[in-house]
This record gives sequence, C-alpha cells and structure tokens, in this order.
Amino acid sequence: MRRVTIFGATGSIGQSTLDLIARDRESYQVAALTGGRNVVQLAKDAIALGAEVAVTADEAQYKALKTMLAGTPVRAAAGRAALLEAAEWPADWTMSAIVGAAGLAPGLKALEQGGTLALANKESLVTAGALVMGTAQRTGATILPVDSEHSAVFQALVGEDMTAVERVIITASGGAFRDWPIEALTDATPEQAATHPNWDMGQRITIDSASMFNKALELIETREFFGIAPEKIETIVHPESLIHALVGFEDGAMMAHVGAPDMRHAIGYALHWPERRKLPVERLDLTRIGTLNFRPADTERYPALGLAAQVMETGGLAGAAFNAAKERALDAFIARDIGFTQMAEVVGRVIDKMSSREGLQNAEMTLDTVEDVDRAARILAAEEINKI
Ligand code: NDP
Repeated sequence: MRRVTIFGATGSIGQSTLDLIARDRESYQVAALTGGRNVVQLAKDAIALGAEVAVTADEAQYKALKTMLAGTPVRAAAGRAALLEAAEWPADWTMSAIVGAAGLAPGLKALEQGGTLALANKESLVTAGALVMGTAQRTGATILPVDSEHSAVFQALVGEDMTAVERVIITASGGAFRDWPIEALTDATPEQAATHPNWDMGQRITIDSASMFNKALELIETREFFGIAPEKIETIVHPESLIHALVGFEDGAMMAHVGAPDMRHAIGYALHWPERRKLPVERLDLTRIGTLNFRPADTERYPALGLAAQVMETGGLAGAAFNAAKERALDAFIARDIGFTQMAEVVGRVIDKMSSREGLQNAEMTLDTVEDVDRAARILAAEEINKI
C-alpha cells in the first residue's frame, strides 16, 4: 500500500486527486490531507478516505475541524507549523496543490523525505526553482510535473536525449478574452475573467489564464524544471486546448501530447508513473474534432508573456518578485481595486524597481531569501496599486 499525502486537498487539483484515489482505495493509505478555509470538505474527505491527519492552514477553523472529526480516528491540526509537520509525516507520494507561494515551504519539507512529489503548485518552481530542484537532487526525491503542459513535455521526452531538443512549445487556450478587442480588456470584470472556455479550474488560475499570467508562470516553470534555455521555449495560442505541449527535436520531428482537457490525466500519470494505468478521462475522437487551430501569442494582448521573458533573463530571485507582485495584483483585481490590464502594469513596475536593486539576480536562494523578496514585492505592489 502506498502512503499518500495531499496538500490543497479541498481545491480543484486536490479534489481530482482524491477522485482517482477513491476509485482504488485498496492501493492507498492516506497519510495527511490539508486544506484552507473549506474545513467541511476537508473533514468529509478525511473521514471518507481514512486519513490519519487533516490539517487546515487557517487556525481560525481549528475548532470547527476538530468538532467535525470528533469520534473519528482522524486527528485535526491547524496552522503553518502543522502544515509543515504534515509534510514530515511519512508518505511515498505527495501532491503539492496549494495555490500560490504558500505551497513552497510544505513542498520543500516533503522533498526532504526523499519520496515522490507531484508538483501542481507552479509557484514553487517560479519562486525558487534552483532551491526546489537542488533539494530534490540532494535528497534523491523525484519531482513529477502535474501542470498539464509540463506533464505533456515530460511525456514527450521519455527516452529522448535532452541535447537533441531544439524547442519546447507550450500551448495556451488564450483564456476568456482571446477574441475580445484589445481596447475592451480595460473594462473586463473578475467574473468575466473567471470563466474559462475549456478548463474547469480554481478562480485564481482561471483569471490568470485570461491575463496569461498563468502561461507566464508556466514558461518560467518549464525553464526551471527541464533546464531549457529561455530562447528555446515558445508559446502559441491553441483555442481547443487538446494539444498540451510540443517538443521539437534537432531532426525536425515534433512530439505533441494530445488529450482531453481533464487534469486527471496529468495527475494520474504522476500517480502511476513510471507505469501507465487506465484513467477515467474522455477518449478523443479526432474525426469529430476535425480541425485544430493555432495562432501566435501576441504580447500586446498578453503583456505577462513579455514580463516572463524579462524574469527568465534576470534569473535568481526575480521569479519570487514576479509571482508575489502577480498575486498581490490579482487580489486587487478580484477586489475591484484595479482593472484587468492594470495587473500587468503593477507587476511590470515592481519587477523594474526590484531588478534595479542589487542582490535580486545573484542573492543566495534559501526559503528565507525567497520569502523576504516575496514580502518586499507585495509591499511594492501595494504601493503601486494605491497610486492607481
Ligand atoms: P484552488 O484554489 O482550487 O485550491 C487551492 C487549495 O489550496 C485549496 O485546498 C485551498 O484551501 C488551499 N489553500 C489556499 N490558500 C492556502 C494557504 N495560504 N495555505 C494553505 N493552503 C491554502 O487551486 P487549484 O487546485 O486550481 O490550483 C492549485 C495549484 O495547482 C496552483 O498552484 C495552480 O496554479 C496549480 N495548477 C492548477 C491547475 C488546475 O487545473 N486547477 C492546473 C495546473 C496547475 P481551501 O479551498 O480549503 O481554502
């Protein structure tokens, strides 16, 4: 029986992971499940799956969680220290699916166990790629990508020689506003941005898809995970979201990963790797689909892509500053303090200011330095937001 822990169990990725585990209960012992505010879901799943411990990141929810788990064998815990303790709880396979920079510390702690970390939390590699990959190398842990694009690249590279890779193409749906006139974007609301044409995901990542901040994070993630030079990483808009990524090789061949837009594929691949097992995902009928479309990703419509290039060029702790500023700007957009297009303006100003400061590029990367840059970028972003 494999021992599994799921960070962010109450979210979109977490729930899809639990769906796969629940279909094959005899193969897994659930060690820990963690969530945030949704303790009702957390308690329900922890009881149903026989988890050893359920942790809410939100200390204010501890009493509610404890009450719901009373009389069951599931232990309740709360707060950041408890989250980190859950990462130390023995597990063979850990899903990192907390949203945002908050996912970094538990993921790093889990890597210390030397097991397998299925990485959905893209912010871990964006903010601290060298630290995350270095920790895995030191402890012998395996990191498996769960983002659909990175899982696609990973699968296209099986058995291939990395030196023969000429380019990696990450596809993008183009998000909610791909067909809107650019001038109309200034008036786009959070509700409109949170409606994805193809994928059913959490609110924050769906808005990030509309702005392509999500794709920007993925480009940086590609660089960090596969060690591919930024100039070899491309983005194209593919409205059907059926090809998740392509890898181009020196002989001109391209390997494309094609599949239905269902995160249970990438999650299931990481769960069963290196084997392939039957998964409850739609089988595509290409004759019914008929046509696949592709168009260039335009940096005027999607300025986040230009910012990603800038961050990759700077390197070091620039990713931590970028992600923190993006998270703060996204909060402000959701709260209607700034408009849709102003998110990129805020992030751009923060990156410019912080890049000109000494130390961002060459500073030592530790959890402390990453968190320091994260805090500084959020403060700067708040200042920029106040000026709007
Ligand atoms: P959701 O918003 O649906 O879920 C986020 C999870 O994190 C929830 O369990 C939430 O708890 C928990 N959480 C929120 N804030 C904190 C915090 N400060 N500390 C600890 N836990 C917290 O996100 P998704 O599932 O959509 O995404 C999760 C990660 O996976 C993100 O990094 C995203 O970019 C990435 N990803 C997601 C994809 C998708 O299809 N959804 C695809 C590829 C990558 P609660 O809800 O109980 O408050």
